[in-house]
Amino acid sequence: MVPLDEMPMTPHTRPGRIEIVAGVMFSGKSEELIRRVRRALIAKHRVRVFKSHLDERYEGVYRVSSHTGVSVEAEPIDRAEEILRAIGDADDIDVVAVDEVQFLDAGIVEVATHLAERGVRVILTGTDTDFRGEPFGMMGHLMAIAEEVTKLQAICVVCGDLACRNQRLVNGMPARWDMPVVMVGGSESYEARCRRCFRIPRHDEDQVALL
Ligand code: ADP
Ligand code: ZN
Repeated sequence: MVPLDEMPMTPHTRPGRIEIVAGVMFSGKSEELIRRVRRALIAKHRVRVFKSHLDERYEGVYRVSSHTGVSVEAEPIDRAEEILRAIGDADDIDVVAVDEVQFLDAGIVEVATHLAERGVRVILTGTDTDFRGEPFGMMGHLMAIAEEVTKLQAICVVCGDLACRNQRLVNGMPARWDMPVVMVGGSESYEARCRRCFRIPRHDEDQVALL
């Protein structure tokens, strides 16, 4: 007889796991999430797709859409705990995919762990660095606890090299370091850039000179 406190953490026979797809904007994260979801559906797995509410690009909040135009239906959430509330019993679901995870609260770590321990395949995609090139939300933590991490890169729009940074532009000029990470409204845009072409002026530097 195995004492209770020595029981394996995952008593389920289903192979629950956490998969992360991380990278900058335009690196193909949504494309990859959609690919994995479609293949799971072909395998007749029971799939639920969520996305954080903050991102409203393209077809609105009810779909995960790639810049390539492909998309899958998704349920909008504001907080990580809403995933568990929407699912109910984890035994009734095989795959949970969440897009734009960088905007979610710290509870996503517990939610992902809980689901994986109950045999669910958890696929999380998100931008792993913010416009300053620093870890975004819980992405770094999630990448550490995941079984599998896929880190994607885009193409630098300035030099054509591989891009690992999100260049934020405000009115066409590089955003300064001291601007907020999430800007609501405003005329900002983003470019994929490599480390060399990335610009993040401090408050006392001239933005135009750094273009
Ligand atoms: P993400 O979810 O990471 O923002 P998407 O899956 O939405 O990425 O979009 C990836 C697609 O965006 C690529 O397949 C390509 O067609 C297109 N794209 C546009 N700009 C770039 C770029 N600078 N680098 C790479 N792909 C780009
Ligand atoms: Zn470059």
